[in-house]
Amino acid sequence: MHELSIAAALLVQVEELAKANGLVRVGVVRVSVGVRRQVVPESLAMAFEAVSLGTMAEGAVLEQSEVPMQARCRACAADYAPSLRDFRCPACGQAAAEITAGNDITIASLTGDTE
Ligand SMILES: [Zn+2]
Repeated sequence: MHELSIAAALLVQVEELAKANGLVRVGVVRVSVGVRRQVVPESLAMAFEAVSLGTMAEGAVLEQSEVPMQARCRACAADYAPSLRDFRCPACGQAAAEITAGNDITIASLTGDTE
């Protein structure tokens, strides 16, 4: 279950971001999850709930939105949406894709209480 390590890394970012914004308690965390990470949303939510116990993010709601994969062809510069198994460019057929989206898990926004 790789969601546990993702949740742990996410918690570190959440706490840093919360402290930087003067929050003492985290309410809602919106995360953008790249489809290529193949995260199971329920598993990530459960894992986050587990790792955040006893922290300022305990009880926080994790809202996840999936980010589809996008690629740019290094050969002809076409932008396209590759499948998870086939990265070849639909325009020129070369497998020289640079993944430009769908690869990361990022915090889109964070809300909480300041006291
Ligand atoms: Zn191409």
